[in-house]
Amino acid sequence: MENCLFCKIERGEIPADIVYQDENVVVFKDIAPKAKVHLLVIPRKHVDGLNDLLPEDQELVGKMMLLLPQLAKEQGLDTGFRTIINTGKGGGQEVFHLHIHLLGGGPLPFV
Ligand code: AMP
Ligand code: ZN
Repeated sequence: MENCLFCKIERGEIPADIVYQDENVVVFKDIAPKAKVHLLVIPRKHVDGLNDLLPEDQELVGKMMLLLPQLAKEQGLDTGFRTIINTGKGGGQEVFHLHIHLLGGGPLPFV
């Protein structure tokens, strides 16, 4: 996806504070953090959002889910953390490249 913001981050075309990456997934700090720790977990493959996942993405989604507690531990979120996936305009999604928000440390601003 030529003009997708998170694809550009994934390709290294625009800077981001990347904290983890492997062959499938990139994790970077949210540019406008809503908590002490606020990371975004994205697949390298462009997917607009949850509505656009395919059965073949099952392993990829599983890898993203399994990565979350590992990242939280590395970030020192020993008492727990919050994950959010906004889907579609009605769900508050602003960047249409699937991402999981990982938040923690101090008060959390959302439900
Ligand atoms: P959402 O509303 O779920 O689509 O979340 C998009 C998130 O991307 C917001 O929390 C933004 O602060 C974050 N964001 C937007 N641009 C950047 C960027 N260049 N680098 C890191 N995070 C970004
Ligand atoms: Zn993308």
